[in-house]
Amino acid sequence: MELEKPDLYRVAEDGASLVLRAGRCGTCGELNFPLSPFGCNACGAEPAKLVEEDMDGHAQLLTFITIHQKLSPKIDAPCVVGEARLANGRIQEIMLQGAGDRFADDMTVRAVPVEVTRGDKSVIACRFAPAEG
Ligand SMILES: [Zn+2]
Repeated sequence: MELEKPDLYRVAEDGASLVLRAGRCGTCGELNFPLSPFGCNACGAEPAKLVEEDMDGHAQLLTFITIHQKLSPKIDAPCVVGEARLANGRIQEIMLQGAGDRFADDMTVRAVPVEVTRGDKSVIACRFAPAEG
């Protein structure tokens, strides 16, 4: 099955989690995610300085809210969106899998593949679920 955003992630070998596609800056060492076509977010180095590197899909969930309105055709309501600190230390908005009562602030979550419908086809989207253990 196709990925919804193949430039951001791929399915890990275990089939149950996602590897995030990041880019390591050869100038300052920043791990950029997403892998930007504009170069390094931290020091402004040109794109050629970035080398793709797998980033662990675990993240620390900082806060989250449930959205009940369908705000865009690409967002299925209700849905839960959160802010999380990703493995590279940067804070990013993420979409959580399932209802809000599965989640708590400061919980560790991880990127998982979730099948969603886009138009008349199914694709694999990136969602975050509670990490086991
Ligand atoms: Zn840099």
